Amino acid sequence: MTLSVRVEQSNEVTAKNYVNEVFETVKKRNPNETEFHQAVEEIFQSLIPVFAKQPKYMEAGILERMVEPERQIIFRVPWVDDQGKAQINRGYRIQYSSAIGPYKGGIRFHPSVNISIIKFLGFEQILKNSLTGQPIGGGKGGSDFDPKGKSDNEIMRFCQSFMTELFRHIGPDVDVPAGDIGVGGREVGYMFGQYKRLRGAYEAGVLTGKGVGYGGSLARTEATGYGTVYFVNEMLKDKGMSFEDQTVVVSGSGNVAIYAIEKATQFGAKVVACSDSNGYIYDKNGINLDTVKRIKEVERKRISEYVKEHPESEYYEGCTGIWSIPCDIALPCATQNEINEESANILVKNGVKAIGEGANMPSTLEAIDVFLNNNILFGPAKAANAGGVAVSALEMAQNSARLSWTFEEVDAKLHQIMINIYQQSVKASEEYGYSGNLVVGANIAGFLKVADAMMFQGLV
Ligand code: GLU
Repeated sequence: MTLSVRVEQSNEVTAKNYVNEVFETVKKRNPNETEFHQAVEEIFQSLIPVFAKQPKYMEAGILERMVEPERQIIFRVPWVDDQGKAQINRGYRIQYSSAIGPYKGGIRFHPSVNISIIKFLGFEQILKNSLTGQPIGGGKGGSDFDPKGKSDNEIMRFCQSFMTELFRHIGPDVDVPAGDIGVGGREVGYMFGQYKRLRGAYEAGVLTGKGVGYGGSLARTEATGYGTVYFVNEMLKDKGMSFEDQTVVVSGSGNVAIYAIEKATQFGAKVVACSDSNGYIYDKNGINLDTVKRIKEVERKRISEYVKEHPESEYYEGCTGIWSIPCDIALPCATQNEINEESANILVKNGVKAIGEGANMPSTLEAIDVFLNNNILFGPAKAANAGGVAVSALEMAQNSARLSWTFEEVDAKLHQIMINIYQQSVKASEEYGYSGNLVVGANIAGFLKVADAMMFQGLV
């Protein structure tokens, strides 16, 4: 990946050599972890200008330390299915960095989960959480458990077994998990119930994304999707544009996608498509969000059901085709590597103006290069989707204070946080000579806060 990073001056050459050396060690120490290598490569390349300008971070070995998780926990998760058969899954919790606060990050339940996926998510989470301006470190967890097609009782038994091991490693001041793909309010509820039972105490701040009736924050459900749209809105505003009358394509139909669609529509855009892991729907008049919410949040069915109720819309099998729909703004809100170089080129050819990453690492390194080289406004995930974890931190604050803020209060704070993240990223990109490159800007801004905390705290 080039990220258009120039290597001209000698201190830049030294910095580049340092980064490459550390990257080689990462690859050797973590063989075959392709997603992890991808996330590391993007971040490392972005940081070359920092090491060139401030060699003190290089001398203190900050990069080597930051990329090595403080603790990696892998455990067996046994549970019994509805047929009475024993099932075994693998559970993970990577406690990556506690430099600026307790480990914080979601839990993902998906058959694709492995150590590489959890580590890429955990490493990104360090910088994302730092960007929010909230006192939260980085962590991530999950399991290769597939919630699709499981009964409510099976989900509960799995969550209870998962927490029976995890509870000894977490706590409101230690590590605070939340949701991610496959983990929403229902799963967080079951995990919280089991944690409470095992601990024998009501420690509300141990998990975020809880139901609002028992310690959850208003606007947490909406936060990631809303935040992504707030972020893209800032990018557009800077160029004299807005969401008004723009055609938008949103991939996914989970929590992030649904609330990105909602806020983009409130801002006057027409969202014409969304998807799930089987295929996508295209509704040229604008998709009906109430139908999508009911199918996905209540009935937990496939997105293909949508066309039965909206005969004017179309359904297509497969996920990548969604990027061939002409649009002004694309919001990938499904999963990692959903936009490759080819899809990026099609989006550019069709005149896309802005990309906002609602999912984690949805664009491949080659796709990012396509967007940057074509001067497309590009909001990278760790900046654009930080609204979710930001409101998680607000949930922790409310739990500690034993009070709850109104929806409007939390939403206003979220909005301001997204504006701050945008401004910090722009400022860092300018200060380090990569004006307009928010990938570099967000990585540098997120990194500096964590790196400085590590310098103050000594070699730990
Ligand atoms: N899973 C979300 C993320 O990727 C939210 C994490 C949290 O709220 O802790 O940032």
